[in-house]
Amino acid sequence: GAPVLEAVDLQRTYSVNRGLFAPTGSVKAVAGISFTLAPKQTLAIVGESGSGKSTLGRMLTLIEPPTSGRLMIEGRDVTGIAGASLKAMRPTVQMVFQNPYGSLNPRQTIRAALEEPLLVNNTGMSAAERREAAIAMIARVGLRPEFADRYPHMFSGGQRQRIAIARALMLRPKIVVLDEPVSALDVSVRAQILNLLGELQDEFGLAYVFISHDLSVVRHIADEVLVMYLGRVAEHGSTEAVFADPRHPYTRALLSATPMADPERRKERIILKGELPSPFNPPSGCVFNPRCPIAFDRCPTERPEPGGENGHLTACFAAEPVLASGRKEGAAA
Ligand code: ATP
Ligand code: MG
Repeated sequence: GAPVLEAVDLQRTYSVNRGLFAPTGSVKAVAGISFTLAPKQTLAIVGESGSGKSTLGRMLTLIEPPTSGRLMIEGRDVTGIAGASLKAMRPTVQMVFQNPYGSLNPRQTIRAALEEPLLVNNTGMSAAERREAAIAMIARVGLRPEFADRYPHMFSGGQRQRIAIARALMLRPKIVVLDEPVSALDVSVRAQILNLLGELQDEFGLAYVFISHDLSVVRHIADEVLVMYLGRVAEHGSTEAVFADPRHPYTRALLSATPMADPERRKERIILKGELPSPFNPPSGCVFNPRCPIAFDRCPTERPEPGGENGHLTACFAAEPVLASGRKEGAAA
């Protein structure tokens, strides 16, 4: 169907003061991200710490406006909307954060936390209707309705994340941005929360933007994967294509480090040099070139734009389809 979300060259710059003797300047946390998201689909945004994932998530959920670029939600241009039109748009796109404790008010019962969005957004529901809706959602995310009058500190991390998810769904959004929703949880609890997210997606017809630093987490839940590096798209394609035929050397390095990669690929483990450069002073040309194992003369001087066929895009001059084991180019897309 028509995209529920469309991002066109989204950018976000922060001005930073790095101390008395350091230059004041600007950081391009997000330096130009474009994608479309179809209804009920899951797009994973993957990249290491500092690559701009949360900044992108805050723009998509209208928490922060982009510095430049365009954002469309359900076909409406919502770039930089404010006031009443922003308030009217808020319910459509909700965010779930990594740390559910930080996003829940410790002085509020979980029922009050779930009822709050209904109150703030003038849904016109009576107190009894709000109560009923909150308790129904508490049950829907797998918690006992008797828990409704308890406080967040009485719950485990996994239970708190269920509450945060329930709260995000109270206004029946079309899009939910999940910022590292399972990263803070024990491995045993992760699968439960991921299963719950899958069930809720089907039941409520949700589109997800699933932010993670870990490719192995997104493999089984995402329809598409967008790999970010220093605020830019390194690679974007269907999950199948990105895992079966990773084309950007950064994606290959990330995959070679994930325990889920198949044994064939794990042999060619790629260790990247150095750390993510500061976005305060990004490398010229391809932003990945100082760490790239296959960089050549063009890379430090020219910047590659994402390109490719069948919706599998790669921002790399050297990226070529891997024509392994008789597989045809583009077959996975
Ligand atoms: P992590 O995996 O650690 O959560 P991330 O991919 O979510 O990282 P962001 O939090 O979006 O990355 O940050 C991207 C860059 O923008 C970082 O260099 C960060 O320091 C900078 N940044 C983010 N928010 C601000 C801000 N409000 N003011 C100044 N710089 C910021
Ligand atoms: Mg983040």
